[in-house]
Amino acid sequence: MSGSILDGKALSKEIRAEIAEQVTAWKQSGGATPCLAAVLVGEDPASQVYVRNKERACEKAGMGSVLHRLPTETTTEQLLELVGQLNADPAVHGILIQLPLPDQIDETRVLDAVNPIKDVDAFHPENVGLIVQGRPRFLPCTPHGIQQMLLRNNVPIAGQNVTIIGRSEIVGKPMSIMFMQRGEGGNATVTVCHSRTKDLPAVTRQADILVVAIGVAKFLTADMVKPGAVVIDVGINRTDDGLVGDVDFDAVKDVAGQITPVPGGVGPLTITMLLHNTLNAAKLQAEG
Ligand code: NAP
Repeated sequence: MSGSILDGKALSKEIRAEIAEQVTAWKQSGGATPCLAAVLVGEDPASQVYVRNKERACEKAGMGSVLHRLPTETTTEQLLELVGQLNADPAVHGILIQLPLPDQIDETRVLDAVNPIKDVDAFHPENVGLIVQGRPRFLPCTPHGIQQMLLRNNVPIAGQNVTIIGRSEIVGKPMSIMFMQRGEGGNATVTVCHSRTKDLPAVTRQADILVVAIGVAKFLTADMVKPGAVVIDVGINRTDDGLVGDVDFDAVKDVAGQITPVPGGVGPLTITMLLHNTLNAAKLQAEG
């Protein structure tokens, strides 16, 4: 059996076109141009590429974007001052602090300082609390992209066994909460695995939907997958063979029912959901 590909690039194009239409309608009704402010500290090459892609995507969707570049040696206080300015600027609707930050910066203090109504990454504890309670203001971009990928490809989620490998604040943890909520895109039976999980293959083989977000190249092998399962690869690993995911794609695609490639799977959807959140942020701020 050979699994079909869940094409994140094509789906992203479709959703970005929908968002661009919504932005046009919003501006025609007198709404301010939604604007994302990105903050990049230091010279990390991957972060520079991500930020540039986000800026470009904003512009293509009819939104504004501003990039604030700070030197590697920036202090927590200096970064907090910039966040304060962006919080107070009525022309800025979304604030994105590109991670990782240099070691000397207190990441938690900085992320907690972002005004929750401009927190388009949904990292602020107020927004995380709202997600946990099932009344989200913003959904975190990568888990939201994955949920949309499944819903729009008519993959059943309710009642399914969903296993997530990885418990990061950015992907694994919020993803697990979203899948267990009541309502559309939820109602799954969720298992979360991590580095302390015993006999991981025995757990992953129970999964109807398997989300892998650990950052280890080609970690998930074919023997860890139930035939016909849906496999979502979140990993982005730079190797001598180029960019690869956390899934051994060539082998797993023959066992899985559906599978996301890397690149061209989850990655493009993450940026797309950031655009979605930026438009919603502008609308929420207009409501006051
Ligand atoms: P992370 O913060 O790097 O944490 C890794 C998680 O994986 C931890 O929970 C860790 O367990 C677990 N883990 C590590 N090795 C493991 C192993 N051998 N067996 C089982 N669990 C293991 O995670 P992240 O930030 O979510 O990033 C994961 C990957 O996704 C990275 O490659 C990252 O670049 C990628 N990513 C992609 C996107 C996208 O848009 N496509 C977005 C975000 C992240 P412990 O908690 O026990 O340490």
